Amino acid sequence: MKLLFKKISHLGVDFETSYEAIKFYGKLKRKSYNLVQCSGKLEGILTCQCDKCGEDISIHVDEKIDLLVSNGIYKSNKELIEVIEFFEEIIDLDTILRSEVETLKSDYYYCIPKCGVD
Ligand SMILES: [Zn+2]
Repeated sequence: MKLLFKKISHLGVDFETSYEAIKFYGKLKRKSYNLVQCSGKLEGILTCQCDKCGEDISIHVDEKIDLLVSNGIYKSNKELIEVIEFFEEIIDLDTILRSEVETLKSDYYYCIPKCGVD
């Protein structure tokens, strides 16, 4: 799902998209001329491998997403939250979702009860 940067108003635009078995939905709201606030939720099932034995496991995902989308290079470092930059006047929500999913996948997971949590 792609949205034009300039179409995002102060009132906000709802969005919903999905990747693999994970749904990403929420609202995009204009914060300033070149910044849009993205508040949403990741919900679904993440399939990954146990870091000990390599067995496939399903992780239940239920996570709040709060980040800023910048139209072009983000120069300021005032903001303490994650900032994602786009360069073609377009906000690509699938790119945001895929990067969040990759971050989740890079965590360590263990199958329970075989390999346990520690
Ligand atoms: Zn295991």
